[in-house]
Amino acid sequence: MMHCEQCNADIEQGEEREHLGKVLCEDCYMDVLSPVRTCDPWAVHSAKSFEAHTGGAARVTPIQAAILEMLEETGGLEPATLLERLKGKLTQAQLEREFATLRHMERARGEKRGDKVFLRPW
Ligand SMILES: [Zn+2]
Repeated sequence: MMHCEQCNADIEQGEEREHLGKVLCEDCYMDVLSPVRTCDPWAVHSAKSFEAHTGGAARVTPIQAAILEMLEETGGLEPATLLERLKGKLTQAQLEREFATLRHMERARGEKRGDKVFLRPW
């Protein structure tokens, strides 16, 4: 199994994309190719306008709120550490899905620190 060097997501065999020598998942590849994040403009737009109406955190699910809280508390965690702290509430695949949602909402993102990828608040 390959991993995206940007967000650490699992990449199915043959699904990997390469950009400037980095192996990326489809999502991150779209991101680097379109810096203004045109991959899903409607999702980002509607998340933002919804937030404007509700005043913020209302849109995140309880588990997403828990993830954000831990990331904000620590300033960033490796996915494995975050999974441990969630005490089995999520599988790795579920965490990746929640994190992808948070990333699209611009609430959290991946960051490379040395040779490790950390999840951190946006
Ligand atoms: Zn990725």
